[in-house]
Amino acid sequence: MTLIDSLLIDGTAAALVGGRWHTGDARFAVTNPATGETLAQVADLNAEQAREAVSAADAAGAAWKRVTVKKRAALLRAWFERIQKDAEALAELMTLEQGKPLAESRGEVVYGASFIEFFAEGAKRMAGETLPVHAADKRMLVLREPVGVVAAITPWNFPMAMITRKCAPAIAAGCTVVIKPAEATPLTALALARMALEVGFPEGVINVVTAAKPAAVGEVLTTDPRVRKVSFTGSTPVGKTLLAQCAGTVKKASMELGGNAPFIVFDDADLDAAVSGAIASKYRNAGQTCVCTNRFLVQEGIYDAFVEALAERVAALQVGDGREPGTTIGPLINQAAVDKVQRHVDDAVARGGRLLCGGHRHAQGENFFAPTVIADATTEMCVAREETFGPLAPVFRFRDEEEAIAMANDTPFGLAAYFYARDYRRIWRVMEGLEYGMVGVNEGLISTELAPFGGVKESGLGREGSHHGLEEFTELKYVCVGGL
Ligand code: NAD
Repeated sequence: MTLIDSLLIDGTAAALVGGRWHTGDARFAVTNPATGETLAQVADLNAEQAREAVSAADAAGAAWKRVTVKKRAALLRAWFERIQKDAEALAELMTLEQGKPLAESRGEVVYGASFIEFFAEGAKRMAGETLPVHAADKRMLVLREPVGVVAAITPWNFPMAMITRKCAPAIAAGCTVVIKPAEATPLTALALARMALEVGFPEGVINVVTAAKPAAVGEVLTTDPRVRKVSFTGSTPVGKTLLAQCAGTVKKASMELGGNAPFIVFDDADLDAAVSGAIASKYRNAGQTCVCTNRFLVQEGIYDAFVEALAERVAALQVGDGREPGTTIGPLINQAAVDKVQRHVDDAVARGGRLLCGGHRHAQGENFFAPTVIADATTEMCVAREETFGPLAPVFRFRDEEEAIAMANDTPFGLAAYFYARDYRRIWRVMEGLEYGMVGVNEGLISTELAPFGGVKESGLGREGSHHGLEEFTELKYVCVGGL
């Protein structure tokens, strides 16, 4: 039996509401972006059913927060181990519904599971405080308590990791969760939930609401007063809408939104290392990663050598179905994504950009785009301002450090930035000058469960991963005991 088969009830991949598999009243198709083939019909829940999920999470919350942290950690550990048993099947499922090469899906299983392992341990180290007093007859304490019901709304580009990065710390802290996965990739979410139920999570602690059109369900999750925190990863426009909806009931909100990452190469950089970092940071997941480089900023003295070396490496990337061995660039998620990359390429070329490779759809199929490098990029181009979210590398030129920092910061976004340099004084100056939540110095891959992930400006609010990611799911309660 495949993992998809294990999710089917009467031919429908069912949602999870209060420990019950719910086939809903309608269904929607999930397709393989590489082939267009339908993978499964999935339950299409409505607003009323989303409210049932909130009720289930709310009902389960009172008991769950009283479960000892050791027990919660043991369940999370069991979930982590259950995932290991089916790691290969989960990776294959992600490649099927999202398209990324199988090697990257395997990497995501490791990365996604690492949050469960980390927060199982981290919860045991959560602590409150006792404070010095200002009056002899008083004592003061700070308790750290779970925030309550959490709604986790996640994107399609990391179908597993974006869920575990939110749910593992929430559950570890004593919260219950309602997950609303992206409509393109709900099967991975359902497989994870099934594994969690198998290892013994109580009913209602984890709920998954699948829906073809997210707005109605999203409205429930952001306006129901029983939901106390919304943790969202996705685009900045949707994040702004959800934040506004959360305002009515003053919910806590974490927002992991879009980016416009600069990748700066200074004249003194190690060229080979910079090109390797560029490939890793731009082309993994076919460029559909929120921390993906969007703009290469390269200093005059190294510019020609860098673009030549980059274009050579990019032309050698292998486009194909993610299941084929050797594939390094899979399909984009859908036609709209392909259209956006084409629009950015056409705009850049029309404004004087020099196409070094790619620049067009790929013969492999309608969702594929050839990996592209465009030199002589300028700040008037769409690629300077908008997140492309595809395999396009525009390379801008700069004269000096001051100009590079100004160009890098000239965006409303502030998620990830990268730079390559060797002078240690420059490294400190640039690191401090970048208005970003995360900076890779001579490094193109920075995500790990051990470090705080998140952005500034319109890239978001809050952090995921590390102990900061756990604290996001807790509230502080100050207690003053008097009359001693
Ligand atoms: P999206 O904003 O379209 O969708 C994200 C999620 O929100 C999906 O589950 C979708 O169904 C849901 N959604 C959409 N409209 C909604 C509404 N009105 N109410 C409730 N839910 C709604 O984003 P996407 O296209 O899935 O993902 C790509 C975007 O996500 C990119 O901008 C990328 O940069 C960003 N992203 C950010 C991070 C990060 O950590 N900062 C990580 C991954 C992706």
